[in-house]
Amino acid sequence: MTDGLYDPLAWINNALEELERGGLRRVLAVRAGAQTSRVVLGRRELVNFGSNDYLGLAADERLIAAARAASEREGWGSGASPLVSGRGESQAELERRLAEFEGVEAALVFASGFAANAGVIPALVEEPDAIFGDAKNHASLIDGCRLSKAARFIYSHGECDELESLLKRGSGYRRRLIVTDSVFSMDGDLAPLAAIAQLAEKYNAMLMVDEAHATGVFGKNGCGVVEQEGLHDRVHVRVGTLSKAFGTGGGFVCGRRSLVDWLANRARTYVFSTAQPAATHAAAIAALGIVRDEPFRRRELLERAAGFRLRLREQGWIVGRSESQIVPIVIGEPARTMRLAEELREAGFFVPGIRPPSVPEGESLLRVSLCYHHTPEIMGTLLERLAAFR
Ligand code: PMP
Repeated sequence: MTDGLYDPLAWINNALEELERGGLRRVLAVRAGAQTSRVVLGRRELVNFGSNDYLGLAADERLIAAARAASEREGWGSGASPLVSGRGESQAELERRLAEFEGVEAALVFASGFAANAGVIPALVEEPDAIFGDAKNHASLIDGCRLSKAARFIYSHGECDELESLLKRGSGYRRRLIVTDSVFSMDGDLAPLAAIAQLAEKYNAMLMVDEAHATGVFGKNGCGVVEQEGLHDRVHVRVGTLSKAFGTGGGFVCGRRSLVDWLANRARTYVFSTAQPAATHAAAIAALGIVRDEPFRRRELLERAAGFRLRLREQGWIVGRSESQIVPIVIGEPARTMRLAEELREAGFFVPGIRPPSVPEGESLLRVSLCYHHTPEIMGTLLERLAAFR
């Protein structure tokens, strides 16, 4: 009832107005068609710098054909959780191939990367244990930590000295888990993984790394930053997504067989959630083949991203410590950030403005997400437009 006498949801209107006043209210967009280097948003076609389809596979014919064939073979919905009858042949095959790709004993595919993180962490640590996390970890890692009931220690972004003093303080806990993104989703910078791995060994901690933005992009074989840094044997729990460079949907965790068996028993987002449609898994299998056979995609993407960052710096923009295909243009204040995003949109470019709570206060930014289909010419048009703002 909303007749003014009894409206227990009235507080929401006030809260939304407050978001509006702070320039923080978000509205849902509608996309038409597929997204490639261009995207149709709100009936307007824009040059697309707002998708995480890093290798340009989201609309690839090979993924679409694989998805079509799998749905004809296995049907569309999976009908049940993986442990009951939902784990079809495509999922089992994908889990086997992901393990092979990552060079580990086993892998487990979740409905999303978010679900993987939210399920894995509480399955690894509980009340007498402690978690040590980077202050800029992704929301899904943070929520996984919150769900776990373990004690939480947060270290400043990338600060290993601080991590070490927290590990010393936490030495009395039963188990310790260090959790970090490898490529940070908003700043595009890399965690100091080798130093973190060393600390994990020194303080007898498990190390979990989320490679959501690195899988398919970093490393000789596209396995991520862990591969690039030669840390295969020193990172115990590796998470990746299928929703970004792999151009489909879902998340996965991989590592040794006993870890994966334990998670299949105890990760609640795996146990109590219906398996994805086979089509999604089949598309991921096709994407894995492309990641293996077409390394030029990741090589060219990272080369072009380095050139793009250089040009932005020359123009006087702050791009932070980005070393990846995610290039932030740090503006600071949310209203100004959104105004610039709007002006870019009017000029025909989609570059999302990112505000709190996605980034800390004072760190609002334009997030340029570079993908394989961004040719130097396409990037040049954006650079030209950005130069006009300086
Ligand atoms: N981890 C990181 C670092 C992310 O950026 C994201 C998504 N933005 C996720 C996990 C969640 O993955 P998904 O979108 O597949 O749920």
